[in-house]
Amino acid sequence: MTLPMKDRFDLPEGVIYLDGNSLGPLPKGVAERIGRAVTEEWGGQLIKGWNASGWMAQPSRVGDRVGRIIGAPEGSVVMGDTLSLKVYQALSAGLQMRPNRKAVLSDNGNFPTDLYMAEGLIRHLGHGHELRVVDPEQVVDAITEDLAVVMLTQVDYRTGRMHDMAAITEKAHAVGAVMIWDLAHSAGAVPVDMTGSNAEFAVGCTYKYLNGGPGAPAFIYVRPDLADSISPALAGWLGHEAPFAFDLDYRPAPGIERMRVGTPPVLQMSALEEAMKIWDEVDMGELREASLRLSELFIAEVETQCPGLDLASPRDGAVRGSQVSFRFEQGYAAMQALIARGVIGDFRAPDIMRFGFTPLYLDEEDVRGAVAILAEILRDRLWDAPEYLERQRVT
Ligand SMILES: *Cc1c(COP(=O)(O)O)cnc(C)c1O
Repeated sequence: MTLPMKDRFDLPEGVIYLDGNSLGPLPKGVAERIGRAVTEEWGGQLIKGWNASGWMAQPSRVGDRVGRIIGAPEGSVVMGDTLSLKVYQALSAGLQMRPNRKAVLSDNGNFPTDLYMAEGLIRHLGHGHELRVVDPEQVVDAITEDLAVVMLTQVDYRTGRMHDMAAITEKAHAVGAVMIWDLAHSAGAVPVDMTGSNAEFAVGCTYKYLNGGPGAPAFIYVRPDLADSISPALAGWLGHEAPFAFDLDYRPAPGIERMRVGTPPVLQMSALEEAMKIWDEVDMGELREASLRLSELFIAEVETQCPGLDLASPRDGAVRGSQVSFRFEQGYAAMQALIARGVIGDFRAPDIMRFGFTPLYLDEEDVRGAVAILAEILRDRLWDAPEYLERQRVT
């Protein structure tokens, strides 16, 4: 493999795409694959597609592909639903594993939906659980003997700050807590070793660095030694031992299959399955090196050419994921001005300009080109225009 692999993506002409951390671009072959799934499979095979085209096995088949990227063995990852739901499934299973403990630890760098889902689950259980949310830097010290679960997102969606997965998992286990990792900004961005970490659960989405497309299904990993004993909170029929026996009583399927819920989104799953083929050719170590090289170049160039922007990401690449963020008071407007000029990043309130570095389709020339445009926008105050200052619904 040589990076980048630009010819494997359908990127619009003249665009420098620095938002693959939020929505990956369209890989070549996906449009054709969806076309075939629609016309040949759905259109031609009708309901026979569930068997003839392997739709029913697809969530596990694609799960194995995701597993390879996160260091998880075959049969330990399954696809489905959205990440929010997978957080709920993992947390409810984790709480059931520690019935005598009532505290969950997370941090305020977590993506809000993870915290909302935890609050909702706790409220709904009504067992007096408590969600403790501390600063990311305080997580290690806050891991105490009363915790049932430690639930963290490895890479901070705003700043790219990265937790030490092995060390935190080890500490969580030392106090007897269950460990859940959200890999939303890790899978396809940094090397992950689920087996080596020994964590009980991991969850993540596939529309970011894995390029599965908007609405692509999420994934959940359960450590193989636990998969037969955890009790699914979302006891759907496709997680049943024998869905087509149509029993009135729920019996969980063996292994990871019990984390399935209902009918999989076959068209989205087909897009993802095709998009995942690229990863067969990617060495994660090499990808990480390239990502750090691009990120470092970006930081250096912005700091020399764009006074007024403050680095919001860790300067040390070893504790940074594959994105770089800068604070700028007029960050929203500046990002709109950038996007209007073909450099696509995004904005996270209150003042974060966020740039993702995805070496599959970015090179140093892109980085230099993006910074040149950003510098011009700031120098000439090109952001100061009504069309850039008004907020849109999705930032
Ligand atoms: C992107 C992201 C989500 C999104 O959840 P969905 O249910 O897929 O909308 C959740 N958690 C984290 C940490 C994320 O980065």
